[in-house]
Amino acid sequence: MQIIEGPNWQISLQPFPDYGKAEQTLFLSAWHARQNAYAFYSDYKVGAAVRSVQSGRIYPGCNVECSTYSETVHAEENAIHTMISAEGPSVTFDAIAIVCIDVSLDMFVSKKEIDSDNPLSQLVMPCGRCRQVIWEHCESERPVKIYSAMPNGLVATIDIKDLYPVPFSVRCVTTKPFASHKNRVTVSEAL
Ligand SMILES: [Zn+2]
Repeated sequence: MQIIEGPNWQISLQPFPDYGKAEQTLFLSAWHARQNAYAFYSDYKVGAAVRSVQSGRIYPGCNVECSTYSETVHAEENAIHTMISAEGPSVTFDAIAIVCIDVSLDMFVSKKEIDSDNPLSQLVMPCGRCRQVIWEHCESERPVKIYSAMPNGLVATIDIKDLYPVPFSVRCVTTKPFASHKNRVTVSEAL
């Protein structure tokens, strides 16, 4: 494993075979979901999978594009919304895996070397829209890991609090109390 650190973030890189069984299962669910992507317009296929804290179940999702483009559903939100549909509004998740590169399973089975000269050159991370959706529904009482496949066959891991340290809050738009949802914190609380 190689760990790369910035001022307020940390990303770890390691080959897929070095991850534990639980992470591999989550990642494979995302890989399979990507095969179902409806991406005829961009050909940018994405698969994601989240793991429910409450049940341990894994929910996959893929991107679903629309000819109007703006109605496109992203894979991360598709997986999260599917989880909510199955377990209700209080469900949270503690890990999400994302695959948005065209890579075969065989590539992950074999162990890859880390390019020490530029280890993050092939890094792929969720878009800004999905970072907010991930934050909104993830488990805030423990580290929430985001696993993302890289074209070189490695998998990058970053915590949501490193990826999205200052989230948008419902309190930015209303004073109505939302005490039942602990993730809906203020900016000052997030800092
Ligand atoms: Zn997105």
